[in-house]
Amino acid sequence: MKIAVIGLGNMGAPMAANLAAAGHEVTGFDTAAPMPDGVMAAASAAEAAKGAEVVMTMLPNGAILKSVASEVIPAMSPGAVLLDCSTVDVASAREVAAEAEAAGIGALDAPVSGGVGGAAAGTLTFMVGGSDAAFATAKPLFEIMGQKAVHCGPAGNGQAAKICNNMILGVTMIATCEAFALADKLGLDRQAMFDVVSTSSGYSWSMNAYCPAPGVGPTSPADNGYKPGFAADLMLKDLRLSQQAAEDVDADTPMGAAAAALYARFVEQEDGAGRDFSAMLPRFESRNREG
Ligand code: NAD
Repeated sequence: MKIAVIGLGNMGAPMAANLAAAGHEVTGFDTAAPMPDGVMAAASAAEAAKGAEVVMTMLPNGAILKSVASEVIPAMSPGAVLLDCSTVDVASAREVAAEAEAAGIGALDAPVSGGVGGAAAGTLTFMVGGSDAAFATAKPLFEIMGQKAVHCGPAGNGQAAKICNNMILGVTMIATCEAFALADKLGLDRQAMFDVVSTSSGYSWSMNAYCPAPGVGPTSPADNGYKPGFAADLMLKDLRLSQQAAEDVDADTPMGAAAAALYARFVEQEDGAGRDFSAMLPRFESRNREG
């Protein structure tokens, strides 16, 4: 397949490299990043998109996605598919899809989970919104770049699934970290805490698969000085997207709002920037009860 990839940063570069390694003809464009192995450089996003059957974007936010989409959609052939894998707000994803569909182009919002490691290993999970036909076109690419692609419904539903999942993740990580810090102060050994909670009703992915306490449970960023992993900055981005979406549809999300406020403080006023999102545990550990 002829594929264009716009945005070859931490995620886009290994995803594009995997498509090229699988034998697809991949052309890339990025305003700053170099091209990975096997990817031909284009002079602009529109040039990369010309003649491509799938144009994949992996960009920082909705505003940049909208500007790139309005550049590439007129250059794309009718019937081609615009596959956005960035994490952006639901409203931008739906606007871009409407613009593409009006031009006879298929559109998918397909944000991922799995991070840079999953992108390199080709084991991402894709959460996909868009038509059945566009999903069918992109399916072989999902199989190369990932281990699972869930079709979540029409345009925007991939982003909706991503931010709802990550809102649960942010909230449960905070709850897990504050519970560990409370257990410490109550004199409860961390290994005992893990052994009980991981097999009791408090279990979660944050506790069982990504335990924030060093030396306890499976190996996680806590065992590597809280080097990400999944950076607190990216968790903050996703929590803010969840709150923006909740605002738009008038949904009551008090725990999501609290998690967004706490990660904002951690990243912007404390030492959370660039640390893994599970570094909430040393944060709580070093604090007393607030008034
Ligand atoms: P990144 O900043 O490393 O990459 C973004 C790339 O887009 C950069 O190389 C930048 O130069 C390029 N770019 C910006 N504006 C452009 C334009 N107008 N035209 C062409 N290229 C342009 O970010 P990343 O970590 O690769 O993340 C990409 C997306 O994936 C984000 O939406 C992020 O939220 C999401 N995501 C990231 C992770 C992760 O662990 N890094 C995990 C899941 C989802």
